[in-house]
Amino acid sequence: MEYRTDRKTSNYEFVPLLENKEQITEGSEPVYEGKLRLKLHALSPVYIGSGQEILIEKRLCRATLRNGAGIPIIPGSSMKGTVRTIAQAVSYSAQKCVGTPSLKQEGSKYELDTPKQPVKCMCMVCSMFGSMGFAGRVSFSDFAASASDTEIINVPKPYSQNILKVKHRYFSGYKPKGIKFYYSGDWRSVSGDLPTECIKAGTDFIGEVVFNGITKHHLELLCFSLGLDGSFPLRAGGNKAGYFGLLNVEVIESTCYASGNYNHPSIQMDKRVKADWFEPCKLAALYGKDNHNIMGNIRKLREILNRRV
Ligand SMILES: [Zn+2]
Repeated sequence: MEYRTDRKTSNYEFVPLLENKEQITEGSEPVYEGKLRLKLHALSPVYIGSGQEILIEKRLCRATLRNGAGIPIIPGSSMKGTVRTIAQAVSYSAQKCVGTPSLKQEGSKYELDTPKQPVKCMCMVCSMFGSMGFAGRVSFSDFAASASDTEIINVPKPYSQNILKVKHRYFSGYKPKGIKFYYSGDWRSVSGDLPTECIKAGTDFIGEVVFNGITKHHLELLCFSLGLDGSFPLRAGGNKAGYFGLLNVEVIESTCYASGNYNHPSIQMDKRVKADWFEPCKLAALYGKDNHNIMGNIRKLREILNRRV
């Protein structure tokens, strides 16, 4: 969803796609299972659309999403999408992946009605996070807010774009310019007229990421894409163009066990061997160190996500 910001210059940039030349064969690689318990700290308000409207202080507002207990949440699917997009931008998965922006796909988000076929993509990102109709090896729980405090903020209206605009903005010919990320900025500087119930800045969210049958290299990419090296904030939910949903991530607890090899992951609860080397923040910092193309994209990603406007 695109939000109107009434600014002359755009507040996003693209991280270019890396050519898909590196083939990784995981067949006999040792794999691991475990989980990360995470705390997300909101640096700006968070808006997760529930699709419903509520009456607050006599105004009809778009309501934030809550779980069955009435607690505001960032759904696991939303966090997974955020982390997946980063993983795609900094790995060799991008070029031919089904998740890569294509004119057909981008068009169908707006006006074109293109049916999507389930395609099994074998790239690193799809094998970790899954692709249309296929399960991945990493799953995200919902992240529940530690406090239910919400506030009403007037945000800019989302608007649909026509396909020509999309093509002009996001593609050079038929080639996508890359993966789009927004700058950081002060959310107070962007206002609109759509009353929206938001979770307050300063709120913490707790949830878990569970992985099963992924290699050490996958783990490095996962930890990096979660922002665990502390070099960039994550972005979740709506109104990203208005600098909403900036999140710092902290590991509360982590466990990791050896679990067979890539083609034959095995879970033997009684014989589990703990992976003593598993330090999520250190792994995150290791990712891409041996590859200058990946490092180039990591530098670009950090530059965009940390750029304050
Ligand atoms: Zn893929």
